Amino acid sequence: MNIAPVFRNAGRSNTFRAVNMEKDSAMLRSQGRVAPRKRLVAISVLIAGAALAVVSVGAPGTTRPVGARANAAPVAVAQSYEPHTGQPAVVKQVASDLYFFYDYDGSNSVFLVTDGGVLVIDTREHPRAGQNLIERIRKVTDKPIRWVINSHFHGDHTYGNAAFQAAGATFVAQQETARLMKLVQPKEMARRQDYFKENHYDPNEVKLILADVTFDDQMSIYLGGREVRLMYFGPGQQPGDTFVLFPQDRALFTPGAFTKHSMPNMAFTTSVDNWVKLLDRVGARNGYDVILPAHGDVAHREDIKELQSMLADEYATVKGAVAKGMTLAQAQQTLTFPQYKDWRNYSRLKSEIQNLYELIQTGKRRYFE
Ligand SMILES: [Zn+2]
Repeated sequence: MNIAPVFRNAGRSNTFRAVNMEKDSAMLRSQGRVAPRKRLVAISVLIAGAALAVVSVGAPGTTRPVGARANAAPVAVAQSYEPHTGQPAVVKQVASDLYFFYDYDGSNSVFLVTDGGVLVIDTREHPRAGQNLIERIRKVTDKPIRWVINSHFHGDHTYGNAAFQAAGATFVAQQETARLMKLVQPKEMARRQDYFKENHYDPNEVKLILADVTFDDQMSIYLGGREVRLMYFGPGQQPGDTFVLFPQDRALFTPGAFTKHSMPNMAFTTSVDNWVKLLDRVGARNGYDVILPAHGDVAHREDIKELQSMLADEYATVKGAVAKGMTLAQAQQTLTFPQYKDWRNYSRLKSEIQNLYELIQTGKRRYFE
């Protein structure tokens, strides 16, 4: 195991080094249409039960430490999520070969840099934002981008795919993620129009790019001598939620099922009880010291408990309101959950109560119909 000092000492996020700060829109150029790509891999790995798929790519090799550069602090960028704090997106080096792209107002990404190439988790919300991420990766390495993992079906994690397709990457997703990306594409596009408008992005540039490789429960990718382990524990925030372990770096990427100090969108959740149980499983797992979430800053094991308690509390409280015969409007007016006022996305509370009402009263998720 080879862990950079910056990682070892990282009790909290501000101990990480932030690099490549810049205003997204300033560096985005017109890209035009994506050229047809050469498919390096045209296989679909479908595994039933708890089978394990292993895909080996590249020769084993040592990971070289990579440098990081700091630029001038940028100005605010508006994103689709509320509240828009204007915090600049940054890249944090969390291990010798592992980088966390952190955008408080948007969605995060992770990239692993090896001698065999680069692996990326999640591509941001538009091909131009994806291109911006590629440019940030290029400040660290000129190795080819070999793999992209889409951690769940939401457009803010997949709509940058076109830029990575043009760069020659092969796409991986859990089966449910691949299925849902296709199923809800029109709805995803519809709910992201404000983001496109705010950022002056052309919605027509977004292309639905589905996985080249899918998996069921678990899969490992070996790249440049590093293992990247994809794991599916069942539906959390939504079906398809994929966790990714970097065993050598003792780092765990978490999808929508865990985000730090953030009230999640529950329009896609099929069972809050199962979600809370899934977090028990993740919290009890060995093999990681640091969490790189899909939203929010770098986190640690104890932060999982915080989210679990919030979810259980919010769910029980709304369930109680339904049981008392409160209408949705009454519940939205009465249940203000002031204890979560400083959480990310607290401003979406009313729609979260509505989402829970739908689940509790109908047992259905209209978003998937
Ligand atoms: Zn998201």
